[in-house]
Amino acid sequence: MSQCVEENLRAVRRQMEMACQVSGRKIEDVQLLLATKTVPLEKLQLAIQAGETLFGENKSQELRDKFPLMNQYKQVEWHFIGHLQTNKVKDVVKYVTLIHSVDRLKLGQALHQQLLKENKTMDILVQINTSYETSKFGTPPETAMELVEQLSQFETLNVKGLMTIGKLHATNEETRQCFRLLKSIQTQIREKNIPRVEMNILSMGMSGDFKVAIEEGATIIRVGTSIFGQRELPDSYYWNENNRLDD
Ligand SMILES: *Cc1c(COP(=O)(O)O)cnc(C)c1O
Repeated sequence: MSQCVEENLRAVRRQMEMACQVSGRKIEDVQLLLATKTVPLEKLQLAIQAGETLFGENKSQELRDKFPLMNQYKQVEWHFIGHLQTNKVKDVVKYVTLIHSVDRLKLGQALHQQLLKENKTMDILVQINTSYETSKFGTPPETAMELVEQLSQFETLNVKGLMTIGKLHATNEETRQCFRLLKSIQTQIREKNIPRVEMNILSMGMSGDFKVAIEEGATIIRVGTSIFGQRELPDSYYWNENNRLDD
């Protein structure tokens, strides 16, 4: 793969357009979020120069390190996409406009307490474990509705949609099933008309499967490797259950 961020971005954008064409969707309905874990600032600046504005981090520490420089660019927006420990909530709400990874009531409570103190609100997505793999976070599909209803009670939290990580190292068809499941949960939740709950965002699709995700209705895709190249740390460092320190 090319080391050139700009070239990689052009290739990803082209593939996004093709996936939109195939599925009869409008390109403006799919946002590209750049997943920047372990990516050095120079590469992020190249992406900004190429016109990118939406970035996502997995760890509060990396967010804090990158934020001062990135904040000079007023157009830049940060989302949080990683597993969020309750003791890191305070750091994260300072920097981001959307948290993709709310997957348990306890985290919702911690966010609510912090946001009340700061007199702020926060947009969130509920992360669902559509692949049923134990190494990933997310609430099981069966408890998604209940969790959304519980989270909707916190007036500081605005539920905007759902997020999932599709099955990895799987066939396109297996991954497609994960995305279809997320879409069907979105439909079920919409039909319930839960007060204050919006279900317009579907965050799904990464380097290996974003085309399938777009075909299945993704409104945000999260892409790292295809743009920035291979990471030094394996993803298990970010996703492993063993890193679940606080709860
Ligand atoms: C790292 C990461 C991505 C991007 O993965 P790539 O395969 O590098 O595109 C997307 N979503 C989450 C939650 C991630 O941690």
